[in-house]
Amino acid sequence: MANLLAIAQGNYFQQKVNYYINVTLDDKNHQINGDITIDYTNNAPHELTEIWMHIWPNAFKNTHTAYCHQTLRQGSDKFYFSPKTDRGECKLLDFSVNGAKATWNYDPKHPDIARITLQQPLKSGQTIQIKTPFLVQIPSSFSRLGHVETSYQMTQWFPKPAVFDQYGWHPMPYLNQGEFFSEFGNFDVKITLPENYIVGATGLLMTNSEKDFLATKAIETQQLLQTLEKKPTQEKGKRRKTVEDPFPASATSMKTLHYQAENVHDFAWFADKRFLVVKDTAQLASGKTIDCWAMFTQSDVKHWKKGAFYVKRAIEFYSKHVGDYPWPQATAVHSALSAGGGMEYPMVTVIGNTDSDYTLDQVITHEVGHNWFYGILASNERDHPWMDEGLNSYYEQRYLRTYYGDNNMNMNLPKALYDPQKHGNLLETGILLLARIGENTPPDLNSDHMTNAAYGLQVYMKTAHCLRWLENAVGTSQFDTAMKNYFQKWRFKHPYPIDFEQALKANGLEAEWFMKTMTTRQNADPAIVRVSKKEDNSYELTVRQRGQLLAPFSITALSNGKEVTTQWFSPTKNQSTYLFPSVEADAFELNHQHLALDLRHQNNHIKTKGALKKAEPIEVKLLAPVENHQKKTLGILPWIGGNHYNGLMVGTLLYNPILPGQRLQYYLAPGFAFGNSKWVGGADLRYRLIPSKGRLKRITIGLNARSFSDDHRPSATDQFGDRFYRISPWLKTEFRSSNTALRQAAQVRWNHIGQEGGLNAKGIAQETFISNVWETQYQLSNLALPHPFDLTIGLEGQSWHQEAQHNQYLRLSAEWKQSFFYQPKRSVQLRFFGGYFLQNSLRNSESVGFTASQQRTRGAFSLAQNGYSDYKYDALFMGRNETAGLGGRQVNLAEGGFKYAFGWPYSNSGNVGHSNNLLLAVNLSADLPFKIPGLPIRPYYDAGFADLGFLNTNNTAPNWFWSGGLTLAFLKGNLNVHLPLINSSNLETLYNETSNGNYFRRITWSVKLNNLEPLEIADRFIK
Ligand SMILES: [Zn+2]
Repeated sequence: MANLLAIAQGNYFQQKVNYYINVTLDDKNHQINGDITIDYTNNAPHELTEIWMHIWPNAFKNTHTAYCHQTLRQGSDKFYFSPKTDRGECKLLDFSVNGAKATWNYDPKHPDIARITLQQPLKSGQTIQIKTPFLVQIPSSFSRLGHVETSYQMTQWFPKPAVFDQYGWHPMPYLNQGEFFSEFGNFDVKITLPENYIVGATGLLMTNSEKDFLATKAIETQQLLQTLEKKPTQEKGKRRKTVEDPFPASATSMKTLHYQAENVHDFAWFADKRFLVVKDTAQLASGKTIDCWAMFTQSDVKHWKKGAFYVKRAIEFYSKHVGDYPWPQATAVHSALSAGGGMEYPMVTVIGNTDSDYTLDQVITHEVGHNWFYGILASNERDHPWMDEGLNSYYEQRYLRTYYGDNNMNMNLPKALYDPQKHGNLLETGILLLARIGENTPPDLNSDHMTNAAYGLQVYMKTAHCLRWLENAVGTSQFDTAMKNYFQKWRFKHPYPIDFEQALKANGLEAEWFMKTMTTRQNADPAIVRVSKKEDNSYELTVRQRGQLLAPFSITALSNGKEVTTQWFSPTKNQSTYLFPSVEADAFELNHQHLALDLRHQNNHIKTKGALKKAEPIEVKLLAPVENHQKKTLGILPWIGGNHYNGLMVGTLLYNPILPGQRLQYYLAPGFAFGNSKWVGGADLRYRLIPSKGRLKRITIGLNARSFSDDHRPSATDQFGDRFYRISPWLKTEFRSSNTALRQAAQVRWNHIGQEGGLNAKGIAQETFISNVWETQYQLSNLALPHPFDLTIGLEGQSWHQEAQHNQYLRLSAEWKQSFFYQPKRSVQLRFFGGYFLQNSLRNSESVGFTASQQRTRGAFSLAQNGYSDYKYDALFMGRNETAGLGGRQVNLAEGGFKYAFGWPYSNSGNVGHSNNLLLAVNLSADLPFKIPGLPIRPYYDAGFADLGFLNTNNTAPNWFWSGGLTLAFLKGNLNVHLPLINSSNLETLYNETSNGNYFRRITWSVKLNNLEPLEIADRFIK
């Protein structure tokens, strides 16, 4: 949301906002109550007639806030279903301006944004005083502002003006993913609360008695740490598990803490009666000293005893590399936090749970580092999140490399799985994955329009990686100079991306390519195509730019795989030849140190003439999830399977690594069936095209093939069993949306299916029946809770000759599935299916059929999909053409979605439930509102209409069907057993005919992920 006034860019100005806040904590009712006075100075070159205010505690007021909507889009309904008593809000607001009651109103769309209309315009250079009482009902810990019992995280807690700058007003609702933008000023804050609270806060503590109180706490903590250290280790281990941190009762007497903070844009405080306190002092090169505090509870002692040291080390590191820390103190507190691993506020950061010294150091450093990137360089985090998170992550990683070495990013994965020499580093793999599958949202985008993965990998990691790339391309000292100058020029201001770019340029850095990595989806992909040696031992290397992004690249001369020397070069469009100075080398490699982001590494390596060729150009591996940068990988895995006709099947899976996403992804799975001695198998290939701009996200061209036996279980008389094969080329287009919960795709597929039949006495198939089915589909889904839906519209056709007759059909179908969650993880599911033959040469045929071998009407709609009616062979059936036994009772919940399985439609009565004309169905199922241990029951009810017009001459069966029963949903609904209880009379007749009074024969089963290909599963996993 941005109110754009046409103000010329370049007229930089900045408002000044001073705050005087006086509040009392009521820890019985979890409220703070008090008043706030805001001195607002208009430094814009023109007058203002309104002031936009953020009333962010109201984000937790109800389910109609942008915060709640975002959590639902991101798949969390915790806040949506929270009891009203856990929610929060800001009450008692009564704004006055310069002592006179003000006119103000809430934004109609956002209850956490308000607007004060000024009676008198606020002239340029003038100051007004805005005053209001306020009461904050503190919510439970859902996001940042909140409490866990009497541990308080007081953030985004007071009414605060939005930023007004050269681009206009920036009112924005509070969000979980997506941070902030605020005006600088001074804070004077008085907090009254029970005496035994320990408080970490923005600002300098002015209350002497409280300074003594903290000093005493620090001494007590030291003593406690010493006694803990003396205890034997085994007891320590025990203690860690059993120590709980009960909340002591609140003191009845109160104290008032007074804080002052200068030149900050926010004020946060954290209060807990259990905090231990550790203090350290940072020493800056300028001679300045900074008090560093860590506050934590006793159960965190193990890692947190070094907390203040980590704060100090981070303060010193950032001061040295970016610019001096400007404030008198820095505090890190450990607290419950429901938004990320940590959260930053000026001078104070809150850190969630961490499990090691390393992680604690990392998170503290990151959050302390935000004092620079956003605390001092106060960019608009919501619209340009890379300017704080990305820049800060770069320095955080540089800090980690300094103190822990280069190789700390790979999470100690086993080398066989992840070898940095062959696979780069894990973060790089993550960034490349997004680029290769088209999920690489530019980091310079509103945070609310990014998936969670893109926010983490693109904003934080890609930016950090690209800055390191820039640093190495220009040299560390030149890079540092540029960054220090940027800091000096923009400290305590609001820099925009253009300002960052200009700061780089002003210091002689070619920054255009870097800005493209932030604002576009372009990738660099230099490839080394030729090498020739000169007489003086220098080399001419030809490098071709295969990517759209032209960015500096490095060439490393290698000898026996070891780095000899590395040089950086500037790219040109297409290809150029570069001179590499005299060197002893047997190979050259681009991006050998993985400092750049190179879309494809496998075109980076070249051997010099005369170098010994390596024996194996391809690597064969059992487990190969990640691409090897140096050579192609063939993964080989054994597989085992079985079905009713093939019996036991054993085979080999040949595949290429799925990470970080291949342009051509494939697997081949040949196998042998021991039950009927036949070759079986499946294969899937897909080729991805990723447009670098526009609304198309991905275009995938695929080819799927499979062949198994589908009839005639081997027996004494029938030894061989016949089989089917299917080959399906397809093309799918997926679209982008700024709504992260929306998915939209269109697909065409052609299926060429062959079925063996007419077995002779020896069981050898005499003929193969062929059908060709083409289909096109449009899919739209919205994953947002609490009512996610999925819509599929399909058009399908077949055309075939049957003896002398030419037949064809064109059928239209639509499926709508929607879940209505009425409790967390409990929903009512509603599904509609409708199908109609737009054209059907056999519409009035006296029977229905599905497949080519049935030699009858093909493509009929079914109320219940069984093996024989899955004529496109999409689902996996254990006994595709069985009428009895376990295999015969498998049903696939498609088309009409009914759960019965009566076997082949041999007779007219068997045709019941199918239609060559029109079929409509509705399916209802629901979770019970309570759990019965061991009995995952979901009641269901299906109703449908199958037009049996073609039977009407000799059949009076009504066209309406219904059936209700219970589903036992095992394995989270992936394996379902259906128990029908009540049925329409026509179904009851069929049940009676086929089950002979045996209820167990009415029971059917289904599996959820029935038609998922391994690559489909992999695709879902990596998206
Ligand atoms: Zn951060």
